[in-house]
Amino acid sequence: MTAMRRRDDREAAQRDLVVGVDVGGTTIKAALLDSDGLEYGHSERPTPRDVGPDAVIATIIRTIVELRARISEAARLRAVGLVVPGVVDAQQGIAVYAANIGWRELPLRQIVAEAIGLPVVLDHDVRAAGLAELEWGAGRGLHEVLFVALGTGVAGAVITRGEAYAGATGRAGELGHIPVFPEGEWCACGQRGCTETYASGAAISRRYAAASGISDVPAKDVISRAAAGDPVAQGVFSDAITALGRALVNYVLLMDPEVILIGGGMGASGAALLQPLSREVQAGLAWRPAPTITNGRFAGDAGRRGAGLLAWRALQESRL
Ligand SMILES: [Zn+2]
Repeated sequence: MTAMRRRDDREAAQRDLVVGVDVGGTTIKAALLDSDGLEYGHSERPTPRDVGPDAVIATIIRTIVELRARISEAARLRAVGLVVPGVVDAQQGIAVYAANIGWRELPLRQIVAEAIGLPVVLDHDVRAAGLAELEWGAGRGLHEVLFVALGTGVAGAVITRGEAYAGATGRAGELGHIPVFPEGEWCACGQRGCTETYASGAAISRRYAAASGISDVPAKDVISRAAAGDPVAQGVFSDAITALGRALVNYVLLMDPEVILIGGGMGASGAALLQPLSREVQAGLAWRPAPTITNGRFAGDAGRRGAGLLAWRALQESRL
């Protein structure tokens, strides 16, 4: 066993690798990945978004440099895949806009490539996470998939014909802003009654605090409290399921996916979330069967894996 592990280590050390970096609103997650999606070390740092975009860029660069320093001499670092939230122009390598980080029209691909001396691919975080699930995770072998990142916010990756669909302006998949409650609560986007206002982790926690007077209860604990019979938690969770269910019914009617994969932090609630959500979606689809709704494989790590995957694809297609 020991001998085998040592041989594996030596093989791993000689492989070509890429760095996948997922810049989130709270955490920057990065990993060294080979072309089969195996990780050879990872790192997590808080996103210094309160300090401003320049500090976030500096942290991205430091994270890549630190991972590069962990590689043995025999291995070769080929490229960096970088994924960010908001609106991304992947073709031009521009981070167009991210409300939670505060950058606008930032030529991020070029900035990072010049700082570290490696080719860089820039893309959208949730679309990359969806592609990681499709290539290496719970969506393997499928072609029509909706990946939902259910975390602080709510966003989707529209996967059709086995590819992530970005839309005409890079804004496809904004499931969180599908309005589900007419005249409902105001959303940060400027509309009322958005899915995200009821079903995101932040919304569940905030709405539970408003109704119970108990603040800072994470969404997953609100879900457990609901299961344990707390009537306030049940009300908040029920609204979240109704909101998310309506958004998913709309998606299914339009796109007819084979499966809906739930990722992001709230995915960890497992059956407590998936069972009521599946019932809600089926109830909204009276005349046709609902697709299976299940968890992604990589939970919160799907983004950095997807970033690595996009770097490998660019290398294989000689785009770098
Ligand atoms: Zn909204």
